[in-house]
Amino acid sequence: MSDIQITNCHTHLFTAAHVPKTYPHWALIPIKRVPWLTALIAWVLAFLGFQEAAEQVRRLRRFQEETSSADQRNILQNMCRHYPKGTRFVVLPMDLSQIGYGPPEVQIAEQHDDLARLAATDEFGKELIPFAMIDPRSDPLANELWRAVDTLGFRGIKLYPRMGYAPTDKTLMSLVYPKAEEKGLPVMTHCSRGGVKGHGLPDRIADAYTDPAAYLPVLKEFPRLKICLAHFGGQRDWDAYVNPEPPSPYHDERTRNWQVMIRQMITSGDHPNLWTDISYTLFDFEEYIPFLRTFLEGPTKEHERLRRRVLFGSDYYMTRQEELSERAVCIRLRNALGEDLFRQIAEINPQVWLGERQEPADGLWR
Ligand SMILES: [Zn+2]
Repeated sequence: MSDIQITNCHTHLFTAAHVPKTYPHWALIPIKRVPWLTALIAWVLAFLGFQEAAEQVRRLRRFQEETSSADQRNILQNMCRHYPKGTRFVVLPMDLSQIGYGPPEVQIAEQHDDLARLAATDEFGKELIPFAMIDPRSDPLANELWRAVDTLGFRGIKLYPRMGYAPTDKTLMSLVYPKAEEKGLPVMTHCSRGGVKGHGLPDRIADAYTDPAAYLPVLKEFPRLKICLAHFGGQRDWDAYVNPEPPSPYHDERTRNWQVMIRQMITSGDHPNLWTDISYTLFDFEEYIPFLRTFLEGPTKEHERLRRRVLFGSDYYMTRQEELSERAVCIRLRNALGEDLFRQIAEINPQVWLGERQEPADGLWR
């Protein structure tokens, strides 16, 4: 096996202290304290035929298992076990204070400070690449964001519009993107129909904030800004793509498939600084990997554009509940893509994304 220095561009280390106590529902507080209760409830719901509710409870259980670690260091240690020595991890914090469930015990500034401390240790200093999270509603002047970047040395920005703001939010347009573009700081943003959503926010609106097309005005105004639409559109859209069904007014992914849209936006060559990552989505490994490989491997300029703009990421620890371990998926991925393609998305592309490596000027984007 050749030596590939992997950079996992999408991971999380936040803990229960960073999540509001009543999320996703106050009635679940006792259940959060007694983990096996959720397993039992999920089983009963499934037995009674309430599959969707059972799935929701199961998801909660996973979430609480994942977040129950004592601190970020703990989760990081667990994550490192899955990867070869020397692997680097981009860590994306979460500000969940504005989703309508009350404030979490530990605020975002403290979460940033914790991460900065971890990144300063001999043990993890080289492995850890922290990004700073901004929710414009809790940080309307972007003070905390720029403190994390300018003072703590964070290397990029994390957004999560699905929680209830548009990518064209005025704080972002006036105080975040211009400076990020100027500094060459990458912006990672959640782009799938699943995940965290503001309390009471209708799916339709959450989807409108998350939609790849919602970034077009941003891409137009800040053409040099590096933006990554994480999750490559997400599992629902991949599923709809892999299993084409007739269009339906209730299933937007069948008519406006985000995976297809992201690929078109990147391969068009109109947005040279638009990226995507395969985190979480590709953990549905068997189903999707042949498609990913087909998209990436080919002789045309379009293939090449996409090949240079897909990042390896996993979404640890969101993936811990999946059947396969993180290590098992990564090795299968590497095996299926082959060393060259894997090196491209796991080593070369992350270096370009993080501003550590120049890309050859070969006219690919004209
Ligand atoms: Zn994530």
